[in-house]
This record gives sequence, structure tokens and C-alpha cells, in this order.
Amino acid sequence: MNIVFLGPPGAGKGTQAKRLETKYNMVQLSTGEMLRQVAATGSELGQEAKRVMDAGQLMPDTLMIQLISERIDQDCGDGFILDGFPRTVRQAESLDQMLAEKGLKLDVVIEMKVDEEALVARITGRFSCSGCGAGYHDEFQRPQVAGVCDTCGGSEFDRRADDKEETVRARMEAYNLQTVPILPYYGDKGVLRTIDGMASIEEIAGQIEATLEVA
Ligand code: AMP
Repeated sequence: MNIVFLGPPGAGKGTQAKRLETKYNMVQLSTGEMLRQVAATGSELGQEAKRVMDAGQLMPDTLMIQLISERIDQDCGDGFILDGFPRTVRQAESLDQMLAEKGLKLDVVIEMKVDEEALVARITGRFSCSGCGAGYHDEFQRPQVAGVCDTCGGSEFDRRADDKEETVRARMEAYNLQTVPILPYYGDKGVLRTIDGMASIEEIAGQIEATLEVA
């Protein structure tokens, strides 16, 4: 099954995508993570990606489509979960076209509805294990032993440079202006499902699984 997660930054798309990967042998395609990997290489493209991300702006569509298309061709297990893409109606249209060329389609688009102010608190407190990528939060999801990753035992953690409040607000504004207009696009195609993104991680996972079972 091929699905898209839509929701503002910090809605929990990455957390839920990682759970589906494990449970259903699907592959998470997180465009933000892909770009952070490119940025970490320090190449010319990487430096440009870092500049754009730190400003809370968007990378060019053609580059994004190319990155995703190449990743889908490598291995998408029993389906993929797109997290962070599409972000504009144009990207949604290009995605449909690219998938159709591969004989693929989207089965479900899940919108996570959230309260924006609560999200700012969620985002500015989050961090992840440098070794395995497991996600944590200063307040809502601390490692069981302080300073030690529950999953891999690692002791180094990262915070995203674009999780600063000012950048978070710019990213939310971009979501409202550019991404919210995608909702009717998928609504018209009959694939859109909306869930309550303010529930607990477990409850949201339950809602998503229920949605996928009837899809
Ligand atoms: P995210 O981790 O999804 O919040 O993405 C972090 C940053 O990567 C965004 O603020 C953008 O600068 C860039 N990015 C991620 N996905 C896209 C996309 N679909 N189109 C353009 N830029 C993107």
C-alpha cells in the first residue's frame, strides 16, 4: 500500500511512519531526512539544501521528484509512506504523474489535524538518537534511562537546526499557505482520511491502522 502523511511540521508524521515501516514492511520516504543527508555531505547541493532548510523555505520541485523517484526505484518493500511530500498542489500533481509512469498510485492520504500552538511546544523539545534515528522529546517522550537511547543504547543525540521557534513558525505558515490547498485535491480523488493528531502516539497509531485496514 502506498500512502502519504500530511500535517504541519511536528504533527508526528515521522514518528508514525517509522512505526508503519516496522509493522507492515513499508518504506518511509521522508524528503526532509533525505535532504538532511544530502546537506551532511557538504557538497554544493548539500550547502544549498542546508541554506534553504535553515530558512524554512522549499527546495525546487524537480529536484524533489528526482530524489523520490530514484528512491522508489531502489526498493519500496510492500509499499511506501511519503512524509514531507507533496507540500504543494504542483508537487501533488507531479507525484501522481511520476507514479503513473511507474504503474503505481497512492492508496490513502492521511491528514493529521493538530493545534498549532501545542505543536510549537512539541517541536522545540524534540531530539533524536544520532545512531539509529529513534525520536524523543524533552517532556513527552524521554529515554527510559537519561542520556541512553532505548533502541540502540547510543549516547549521542541530535537536534534539528530548523526546530528553532522562529523557523518552526515560518514552516507552519508555509504549510498553511502551500500545503493545506492539497487537501481538496486528494478529497476529490476520494483518498483523503483525516485523523486527530493531538491524541497520544499510541492512539494515533491505532487510528492510522484502522484507516489502513478499511482502505
Ligand atoms: P521536514 O523534515 O519534512 O520538515 O523538512 C525539512 C525541510 O526540508 C523543509 O523545511 C524544506 O526546506 C525541505 N523539504 C522537505 N520536503 C520538501 C518538499 N516536499 N519540497 C521542498 N522542500 C522540502
